[in-house]
Amino acid sequence: MRNNLVVIGSGTMGRGIAYVGAVGGLHVKIVDIKKEALESAEAEMTHVFKKAVKRGKLSSTQVEAAKRRLSYDVDLVEAVKTADLVIEAVPEIREIKKKVFETIDIHAPESCYFATNTSTMSPTEIASFTKRPEKVIAMHFFNPVHKMPLIEMIRGLETADETVEIVKRISGIMGKETVVVNEFPGFVTSRISTLVGNEAFYMLQEGVGTPEEIDKAIKLGLNFPMGPFELVDLVGLDARLNNLKYLHEKLGEKYRPAPLLEQYVKAGRLGRKVGKGVYDYTEK
Ligand code: NAD
Repeated sequence: MRNNLVVIGSGTMGRGIAYVGAVGGLHVKIVDIKKEALESAEAEMTHVFKKAVKRGKLSSTQVEAAKRRLSYDVDLVEAVKTADLVIEAVPEIREIKKKVFETIDIHAPESCYFATNTSTMSPTEIASFTKRPEKVIAMHFFNPVHKMPLIEMIRGLETADETVEIVKRISGIMGKETVVVNEFPGFVTSRISTLVGNEAFYMLQEGVGTPEEIDKAIKLGLNFPMGPFELVDLVGLDARLNNLKYLHEKLGEKYRPAPLLEQYVKAGRLGRKVGKGVYDYTEK
């Protein structure tokens, strides 16, 4: 496999995946339907590059080389024509993902592998949107991608061993560890983290404590690196709600989204990305 990576979706996750790909030496094209999203992705990656130089993790020469390996596009059809691997990071909505996979299946080379960064959905079903199910796998990255060491790989029913090996190698190039797990809604990590995060919203709704108190209790009492509200603000409350809705449908009552979470999403309090989620990040 050559080294042309296309990342679809330049939101919270896509920009992080593009960043670690470029730093690892891959040629990365990042595609979004919104030009503003691409501009915001470029600005954020520039910021992360600057911090990496400041902290001595990358030299300025490495950053310049990585930046040269990055390009931006709004034309998905054109972008995938020379792709070796496509990683999809569009919203967790079945119809959007279906359309994307149907499109890239037509326009990407036959040799190209496809990965989805879905948090919860079935890679078998996603593979069924294509005529190359043996070349499709889930690569579940964690947020923020440049800091989190793991990629959870989930095989679909027809994923070939070769696909697992290729994607493991690419994960290594991106500087990541991998686990390979079998398909079940929510895999390992989303199944646990959505449950913890949802329970925290129920506690907040019941008046058990303030967000600060609940976060502090979980961090210092249970040794979690972040509190559930700090984490959901980073993940995006809308993204979390979509995951919960899917797991509620597939795994039952224990994943019913907390009404307070739904209310925050309706109010547009989607997390850090908009300046306000459970916490307020706007400068007073
Ligand atoms: P996001 O909303 O931040 O970004 C999604 C991007 O996709 C947006 O910029 C949007 O304009 C773009 N987009 C929408 N439709 C498109 C299309 N047809 N073609 C190209 N671009 C399109 O979402 P996110 O939080 O980055 O999540 C993306 C995926 O990653 C989801 O499946 C989510 O479940 C998963 N995920 C998210 C997190 C997290 O912490 N946010 C963690 C792991 C996995």
